[in-house]
Amino acid sequence: MRMDKFLSQTLNVTRTEAKKMLKQGRISKNEVVCKDGAEKVIPQTDVVCLDGTPIQYEQFHYLMLYKPAGCVTATEDAHAKTVMDYIPAERRRNLSPVGRLDKDTEGLLLLTDDGALNHRLLAPGKHVPKTYYAKIDGTVTEREVTLFAEGLEIGEKKPTAPAILEILHSAEQSEIRVTITEGKFHQIKRMFHAVGMEVLYLKRLSMGTLQLDETLAPGAWRKLTESEIQQLK
Ligand code: URA
Repeated sequence: MRMDKFLSQTLNVTRTEAKKMLKQGRISKNEVVCKDGAEKVIPQTDVVCLDGTPIQYEQFHYLMLYKPAGCVTATEDAHAKTVMDYIPAERRRNLSPVGRLDKDTEGLLLLTDDGALNHRLLAPGKHVPKTYYAKIDGTVTEREVTLFAEGLEIGEKKPTAPAILEILHSAEQSEIRVTITEGKFHQIKRMFHAVGMEVLYLKRLSMGTLQLDETLAPGAWRKLTESEIQQLK
């Protein structure tokens, strides 16, 4: 592979930016400064450094964002803050969110430029489970657990697929965990609406095998680990 391609993919920069780094003498290959974008790189064996720090080849990029409330899940928006505003500009290139969270929903959001994975995770036939924590205005009981398991009419062609509702604290304002395998617009809010209750707070905890890293603060992000990426695939 050419050095400029290696740098552009690994650092998620344009080829022009990669060429600039090379020209500035910031890149070395096997301890020799490299200024030529056409230089051949073998990602498995060559040690490429940026400013003296080794960089690992990455074809695609996978970031986990702890989405805070108050931003929209979009790459751009004329009026509102977007989830991309939480990612440094030099990391944003070609990234897209995998699925959507409402503006007031918090929690796990995966961002990637791996279009095939994005597609696979969202494919309706795939039924990737998504688990949420929620505070509910209403006393959630076994009645709602059964109704969620049976499927609810929320104004779509078909009732919702069976969902697992777990009661964490049953009170006038209940705390619950719910797992759904679909991704209909406002799905959880509409499911609670269908049983006469309102969602006061909603946070996504996991998507498939990927769990929200609770050491992240709302608005913070980190790269997925190699094992998190492999498990998602
Ligand atoms: N269900 C909702 O109602 N909102 C979300 O953001 C996600 C799931």
